[in-house]
Amino acid sequence: MLTEFHIGIDDTDSDKGGCTTYTATVLFQELIERGFKPSDFPWLVRLNPNIPWKTRGNGALAVHFFVEEDQIEDVQRAALETVEETTVASTRGTDPAVAFLKGQVPRALRKYSTRALHDVLTVREARAVATKAGAEVHAMMGVQGVIGSLAAIGAGLDSVEHTFEIIAYRIRENLGSPRRIDHESVKLMNAKYEDRTFNNLDPESGRVLVSPHGLDPVLLGIRGYSPQHVLGAFNEVQLNEEIERVMIFRTNQGTDAHLGKARRAVDLEPHQSGVLTGRVDEMPRVLRGGHVIFRLRDDSGLVDCAVYQPTGSLAMAARDLLPGDRVRASGGIRGWREGRPTLNLEKLEVLHLVEKIQHVNPTCSNCGGRCESMGRGQGLRCKKCGQQNENAAKILVRQQRHLQLTIYVPPPRARRHLTMPDSKPRNISNEYLRVEDFQLRVEDFN
Ligand SMILES: [Zn+2]
Repeated sequence: MLTEFHIGIDDTDSDKGGCTTYTATVLFQELIERGFKPSDFPWLVRLNPNIPWKTRGNGALAVHFFVEEDQIEDVQRAALETVEETTVASTRGTDPAVAFLKGQVPRALRKYSTRALHDVLTVREARAVATKAGAEVHAMMGVQGVIGSLAAIGAGLDSVEHTFEIIAYRIRENLGSPRRIDHESVKLMNAKYEDRTFNNLDPESGRVLVSPHGLDPVLLGIRGYSPQHVLGAFNEVQLNEEIERVMIFRTNQGTDAHLGKARRAVDLEPHQSGVLTGRVDEMPRVLRGGHVIFRLRDDSGLVDCAVYQPTGSLAMAARDLLPGDRVRASGGIRGWREGRPTLNLEKLEVLHLVEKIQHVNPTCSNCGGRCESMGRGQGLRCKKCGQQNENAAKILVRQQRHLQLTIYVPPPRARRHLTMPDSKPRNISNEYLRVEDFQLRVEDFN
């Protein structure tokens, strides 16, 4: 009897190269070649991006196949071998891990996966959840990877909001050399697929964002809202080097999945992701380098919100806040300073703006010129005709606020993988997309 079999993989990459998406792709294609039938696209699951000891992006992978009971051992062996062969370890802790689960994903594992988006979890708890869920975990060097490998299986991407990414991988000989893709063709692709793909270019700087820069095997990745669209967009890009393989992933990228948890200042812990709602407590401070700090007060306490200069339009918005403005601030918790937690701002929703009132000198009753102060408590004098008025005082003028009641996010170049582009949620398409219709053969692209 056929049963669904899930394989979670985490942490096969390092600063020396590799990519966990590559490991999953090799395994997926190996199992297809052996005649197994996938039950879905491979999942690329981004977890809490505020965990500092994870490799860039904190991504874990899951693949799902229909297998006969007596084939499970073969599939497990293939998975462990693939992980071993594709892991690029470094001294700075690469902790590849694989998780196996047969049949339906239990609720406990789903809940665990949701927590892995927002919290800092322990390996000890991962092992307890695995036991409860009937999953098997294999840590192959260190143990940190077991958290991600389990969380990937529990992510339920087929039933929550998700997007897709097509990734093309380089041949071994080219690893480490500059990536050769035609940037003009990326711009043309972006113009054609702008509303169905995201993060291709940074509009503020004009930078092409589809290619990474490191030693990893990814040549380029295009993100979008359906498999057809990412494939269509990919076909528009001119590649000037051979590719080894190509794969479409279902992913939680671009969904803000890590920013769904409302928190109170008093409950915050380091490296959590979360959302706080409150009032701006004092004038924002602009630091050297253009970074902005503003203090937020909710019903439980105070939080410093830090907005870094590279977040461009988001930092510009933050400096326009005024005490009393009501906002929803989303991001990751860093350290504590002077007893207050610091939230690294990733998204700012302006809920209510106070009136901006400025004290200005009135105009002269004699000639209409601008008056100036003669000193504290000594009234005003006209700059033009010199008329003095000891009883005159400054008047209050309402200034225009430049902020809007809207959501501010960083430009694409400064976004997290999980950041929702322009904060526009898309509905999950109801059309049934079969992974079989997207078996991409590398011959078709080289
Ligand atoms: Zn005057």
